[in-house]
Amino acid sequence: MRLVVLGAGAIGSLLGGLLSEVGEDVTLIGRRAHVRAIRSNGLHIDGVTGRRKIKVKAEVAPSRAGKADLVLCTVKAYDTRAAAADARPLISKESIFLCMQNGLDVEKEAAHEIGAEQIVRGVTNNGALLVKPGYVKHTGLGDTLIGCPDKKWRDKINELVKALNSAGLPAEITERIHDIVLSKVLVNVGINPLGAITHLRNGDLVKNPLLKDLMKSAVEEALRVVDKLGISIVDGDIVEKTFKVAEATAPNKNSMLQDVEKGKRTEIDFINGAIVRIGEEIGVSTPINYTLTALVKGLELSAANTR
Ligand code: NAP
Repeated sequence: MRLVVLGAGAIGSLLGGLLSEVGEDVTLIGRRAHVRAIRSNGLHIDGVTGRRKIKVKAEVAPSRAGKADLVLCTVKAYDTRAAAADARPLISKESIFLCMQNGLDVEKEAAHEIGAEQIVRGVTNNGALLVKPGYVKHTGLGDTLIGCPDKKWRDKINELVKALNSAGLPAEITERIHDIVLSKVLVNVGINPLGAITHLRNGDLVKNPLLKDLMKSAVEEALRVVDKLGISIVDGDIVEKTFKVAEATAPNKNSMLQDVEKGKRTEIDFINGAIVRIGEEIGVSTPINYTLTALVKGLELSAANTR
């Protein structure tokens, strides 16, 4: 199977690199400095699954990669539409476009450019950091879950799942992908903006009673939106889960805080911002998520103003 990773940054390089190591035909599409480093000196992956140097194909222009059986989209959520447009030369009627990003509505972004029936949703709970061009740190081993909206894609998705498992990355097909995406978003609704605004690590957010209470309120408000949509989350008590995730990842700076610290755009529009948007559409007011979204947008603006 021909796999193309669209947006080979941290998570895309990790998944693509390890898949290539077990013999899959992988091409990474990434930014120039990263591609140049991989071509001249291989892709270095260090961390929870050991240290290795992997020879993998890398290109800047998608048109140079040829047609793909499966495109693994790993750009940030806000880049999905533009990346999907760039990916057109990779896509045939038989190609799957697998969205692996965090956040809500990334499939809708991709569907502006790619046939909706070709779009598949996945989630990965691995953690990765792009340390410098050509070097990725595998910071946490987690499962990867992939939906299968149409049985015509089952063989290819099964093949990908098998390859991920043989690469040491636990993976499975799930019937509940939308529920799993939503649960992850709800946890992020509570943790990410609070870390980004306060610059605190995850564990500190639940040590402070005021912040812990705000975290609870943000998640409960998002749950009211989800309830009104008629979706029941089967993942148990999401507020408790959010506290547990923050405690279990106590030393970590969440990805939104990392983006703020680098002066980069965040994924707020696809997390709390998406809750606000959906709330407006269905008549559920979301003042807490609105405020958190506005404050993070303010941080993005002040970073842009200082550039
Ligand atoms: P990242 O390191 O920023 O990787 C994305 C890469 O795609 C960047 O190098 C970006 O370049 C590049 N890119 C953007 N548009 C492109 C295009 N049209 N063509 C080629 N390359 C393009 O981000 P990440 O941390 O891997 O996260 C990616 C997604 O996975 C996010 O939704 C994130 O929430 C999710 N995720 C991440 C992790 C993790 O541990 N990192 C875990 C689970 C899920 P620029 O930097 O120049 O924009």
